[in-house]
Amino acid sequence: MGQIIAVANQKGGVGKTTTSINLAASLAVAEKRTLLVDLDPQSNASSGVGVLSEQAKHTTYQALLGEVTVERAIAPTGIEFLKVLPSTTDLIGAEVELIGEVGREKKLKNALSQIRDAFDYILIDCPPSLGLLTINALTAADSVLVPLQCEYYAMEGLSQLTRTIALIQRELNPALSLRGILLTMFDGRNNLSHQVSEEIRRHFADRVFQTVIPRNVRLSEAPSHGLPVLQYDISSKGAEAYLALAREIIDTGH
Ligand code: ADP
Ligand code: MG
Repeated sequence: MGQIIAVANQKGGVGKTTTSINLAASLAVAEKRTLLVDLDPQSNASSGVGVLSEQAKHTTYQALLGEVTVERAIAPTGIEFLKVLPSTTDLIGAEVELIGEVGREKKLKNALSQIRDAFDYILIDCPPSLGLLTINALTAADSVLVPLQCEYYAMEGLSQLTRTIALIQRELNPALSLRGILLTMFDGRNNLSHQVSEEIRRHFADRVFQTVIPRNVRLSEAPSHGLPVLQYDISSKGAEAYLALAREIIDTGH
């Protein structure tokens, strides 16, 4: 049964989508059957693997509301082992529409249970909020991966996220674990990056991934070509880092 990892942090611009796309692609080239679930109405994860909103036949929104099966909504990508459940801006409405539904926090969990056996990894790219969509992701997930940008205030908001995780564990998903904190946009020439990284490691110890994602321009260029970085520039530092992260996740086995 595939393991479900939610990539979450209510802060925007910390590398959630970049991590979702490139970790998913890196797991897929290791021949792990991988599904990238785009749960952000901005649909950057979908376009980042070459599926534009207007091309998506069916979407995460429709699958969430039970209008189509997840199986029908899944689209192929340019990587054999990588599939995507694409989103469009209609997901904005889902936050509101779900409020009136019975079992509103478990819609994604139920939807993904139909196809879980067909994948080794299911990664969910969460929106930058702790609203009902992110709650659905945390309820469906086995674990959560939290990208943290190596800058001032990196830890700001983290206690709110930790409280939400604790609440979900108590009320909705006792098995949810913190899979790890991922340091992103690390700049080795910048003292601040080193300080932030040390502080986070002191605080969270072995819950921080060994792999650190460097600031790398190739990572920011690749999405405009609709490609994960390993297809755009396999020799880049960004590609190397996400391949190492995939290896770390596969090797630690959960
Ligand atoms: P989020 O999904 O958390 O809002 P994104 O993954 O969209 O964050 O990243 C925010 C911006 O930073 C994007 O323009 C992205 O291309 C860029 N970015 C993310 N990670 C890196 C990195 N390691 N190096 C350089 N640019 C990055
Ligand atoms: Mg994003």
